[in-house]
Amino acid sequence: MRQVPFTREQIEAITHDYPTPFHIYDEAAIRGHARRFQKAFAWMPGFKNYFAVKALPNPHVMAILHEEGMGFDCSSGAELELASRLGVRGEEIMFTSNDTPAYEYAKAVDLGAVVNLDDLSHVDYLAANVGMPELICMRYNPGPLKGGNVIIGNPEEAKYGFTRDQLFEGYRTAREHGARRFGLHTMVASNELNADYFVETAQILFDLVVELQRELGIRIEFVNLGGGIGIPYRPDQAAVDYQRVSDGIRDAYERTIRPAGLDPLRIVMENGRVITGPYGYLVSRVLHKKDTYKQYVGLDGNMAHLMRPGMYGAYHHITVLGKETLPATATYDVTGSLCENNDKFAIDRSLPEIEIGDLVVIHDTGAHGHSMGFNYNGKTRSAELLLRPDGSVRLIRRAETVEDLFRTIVWEGVPSAVPDVS
Ligand SMILES: *Cc1c(COP(=O)(O)O)cnc(C)c1O
Repeated sequence: MRQVPFTREQIEAITHDYPTPFHIYDEAAIRGHARRFQKAFAWMPGFKNYFAVKALPNPHVMAILHEEGMGFDCSSGAELELASRLGVRGEEIMFTSNDTPAYEYAKAVDLGAVVNLDDLSHVDYLAANVGMPELICMRYNPGPLKGGNVIIGNPEEAKYGFTRDQLFEGYRTAREHGARRFGLHTMVASNELNADYFVETAQILFDLVVELQRELGIRIEFVNLGGGIGIPYRPDQAAVDYQRVSDGIRDAYERTIRPAGLDPLRIVMENGRVITGPYGYLVSRVLHKKDTYKQYVGLDGNMAHLMRPGMYGAYHHITVLGKETLPATATYDVTGSLCENNDKFAIDRSLPEIEIGDLVVIHDTGAHGHSMGFNYNGKTRSAELLLRPDGSVRLIRRAETVEDLFRTIVWEGVPSAVPDVS
């Protein structure tokens, strides 16, 4: 049975101050995992996980992760701004973007971030529009060398990265533009649970590091193995065995990097999902039950608060608070209120009998949960709460209001517009 770090009574008490729906993040569990994670990879020269900010772009959580020793992987100007407002600068930031506008490159270079290029044409683009930084990283797409998975897709079909030949040309060109320090990156899977996959990825990058040295005389100073470590969303899945990943990568390092005289080679990652995903929960209350061709349970949360089930058909486990030990004798579609039939948190899910007013907890919403939210149908995004190690709760983002949605409308010129009458 999957546990939740709170009781029905605790959540009822929290809803007096913060009405449902909300995401709540478990700080003690995030810290505990961050330490276990980094310990598993501590042998790696200069190991650092750059937390993928897009997974949970809340500065309170980012500050916790920074305290625990992580840097930030940013994919946009807004994410760079968040990192910078936490006072983080320089090579603690990785900027991994694609189809990137010049002003975002300029911001990354201003912050001294490690710029990770997505395409050969961006070498000249960066040099022409911003200037080539001393340190530059490039994203490799191994194409047919590697099988993909459902979220990123087959590498040959994926829009990301350089081909192998382009990579060699890219480093040569960057060097001509004045780059002197080099990194190599790849990210070919997302939500991957197979430990061997990450070992294979490391081996591919290690081989390339050796060839780049041999052919171009370029010394790669770090490899970034990307993010993509999966989490066991389903109860029958198992978490990735970090020790197995770590040991496998160590073998590859000893076999490939050390004999080539390229030790030490820094090894970094940029995981988001596995860092915060399991430690966040979307809490929502049952508003309605509906009995037609199927049994429905309608929540006060909807797809605007958690898009993954609707977007990917993703499974998220559900616990009904106070009914944790009751048998799952009913079968429901658990829905939100959007005018889209894919606004379902679960389809044909076996659950205990549910009553109106019950509190439902949707698991594993700590990554790619709140951050994927949107405002279709005029739905407002929820609050985010932090469950502190002492059991207290802190509001770390308030819920949006309808006024937030209307802020960008130009009312001027709307015939007989009546401004805010509230
Ligand atoms: C999304 C993304 C990540 C993080 O992926 P997770 O599945 O959250 O670990 C890391 N790097 C890049 C380039 C990404 O696009």
